[in-house]
Amino acid sequence: AALERLRPPTDSMPPAELLDAERRPLLASGEYPPEWPAEAIDRQRRGAPAPDSGGYGPIAFPGGHAALPMATPVRDGRRVLGYLFQLRRVSPSANARQIQQLIGPSITVYLANADGGPWMTLRATSTPAPVPRVPAGLFSYSRNETEYLAHADRIADTPWAFVVETPLAVALARPASFLRLEVAAAVLLMLAGALGAWLLSRRITRPLKRLARASSALAAGDYTQRVAPGRADELGTLARTFNRMAEQVRSAHDALQGKFEEAHALAEELERANTELRRAMAEAETARAEAEAANRAKSDFLATMSHEIRTPINAIVGYTELLRLGVTGPVTEAQRTQLDRVYLSGKHLIALVDEVLDLARVEAGTLRIERSVGVAMETAAGAVAILRPQADRKGVGLATGCRCAAPLHYRGDPNRVRQILVNLLSNAIKFTGAAGRVAVNCFGAADADGMAWVRFAVEDTGIGIEPDHLERIFEPFVQAETGYTRGYAGVGLGLAISRRLARMMGGDIDVESTPGVGSRFTLRLPAEGGEGGEGGEGGEVGGAGEAPSVRGSA
Ligand code: ADP
Repeated sequence: AALERLRPPTDSMPPAELLDAERRPLLASGEYPPEWPAEAIDRQRRGAPAPDSGGYGPIAFPGGHAALPMATPVRDGRRVLGYLFQLRRVSPSANARQIQQLIGPSITVYLANADGGPWMTLRATSTPAPVPRVPAGLFSYSRNETEYLAHADRIADTPWAFVVETPLAVALARPASFLRLEVAAAVLLMLAGALGAWLLSRRITRPLKRLARASSALAAGDYTQRVAPGRADELGTLARTFNRMAEQVRSAHDALQGKFEEAHALAEELERANTELRRAMAEAETARAEAEAANRAKSDFLATMSHEIRTPINAIVGYTELLRLGVTGPVTEAQRTQLDRVYLSGKHLIALVDEVLDLARVEAGTLRIERSVGVAMETAAGAVAILRPQADRKGVGLATGCRCAAPLHYRGDPNRVRQILVNLLSNAIKFTGAAGRVAVNCFGAADADGMAWVRFAVEDTGIGIEPDHLERIFEPFVQAETGYTRGYAGVGLGLAISRRLARMMGGDIDVESTPGVGSRFTLRLPAEGGEGGEGGEGGEVGGAGEAPSVRGSA
């Protein structure tokens, strides 16, 4: 009766059974359906798990009907005396159709034996398991050459799993259509993008190309090229800037062209001037050569003539001397006076001819200058000695010699130096009145370049020279144009010869003069050995002092 109460009140239910400890049937509450094989039932009796609170075994299909085995142990303390066992028949679900309608035709629901064995459909029919074990979650398999996608959930405390399956094609149908839609959208987007890019590039590259063309034309020399600005954006600004730049380039080019033409004209003018200059230079060169030739001819002529004149004058002077000595008979006093005049005139002529000869030789470059070293004091004393009689005759005071702290040496020909000093002293005496003073000082000095010089200063208290004659008196045949000097002998060659001689020895002659007060002629020559300061403010002839410092007396 207790077993009978365990059975639900449906005829279709198989009986509840009491099994012994070896799971052999002891009692049953009814009969199994005759089509259920006894051996299959026995297998379920032994296979059903029996935890304390009772448990379910794997879904079985005895006689083709789905059944769920259930077993509960019967205990006496810890000892298991036997089991209560029942195979609960599963009838096809009354709601199977509604459920199927709800989930749609492509989805199938199973109750599966999770650890292997056939699966049960909603209609309680069996289907062979497509996989040996049901995994949890998503999995896929193929059955009857169809791919399926399934999802399984284990049912707690049972060996079952709830499986939902759908053909893979159906599952992928929506993603595939979504994918197709995506591809179409992507293609469309790409086309739109390409179109946009093309439009954009057209908008940017067209004006840029125009700009590039205009730039190339500008570079090739077409300065009239301009670009239509058209737009207000950066490209428009670029075009306007380009136009401004092109305008500036054009005006700069025009200005340059103008300058170039000017320069060209100038160059032509310069070329003409050059040609003119070359012709003038050639003419000048010819003139110079001719002048030199003429000068040489003149010098040659002078030299020859002087020589030719000197010989007969010498004869005149010689014969006059003999007459004066009374070699040819007694000479009266009156005759002697006349002969003296002839003699002096002859001497004067010889001196004159000597000067002309010297000048001619200097100019012809045939005058010989000895390269030697002289002592300033000795040369000056020699010149003073020669001029002393002339000075005495005139009553002019003439200093007797240099008194230098140390002997001053100069480089030059002592004979020529003495000749120059004689010239200068003779002029000084000549242009100084009676009771006047003439002196020669010699001293060493260095100029700004450190060049050492020996200087001879010939000073007088004579008539002096007008400032505008100071340079001209060094030219040949020039005498200061004063009526007074006309009264003096000479032809104006002494200074010309003296300066040339001084320059031939590397020196020069300068003059300072104050009309009515006196003159100072300075001959300078390169010093020999030591600095220019050798000897310091050297000795003097006739006393020291500022120029003209002529205080000494004969
Ligand atoms: P010359 O004495 O034969 O006329 P120079 O060449 O020696 O020729 O002198 C040229 C001229 O310079 C002189 O005629 C004279 O006018 C002037 N002159 C030269 N030395 C003196 C001087 N010491 N004082 C004034 N005039 C001078």
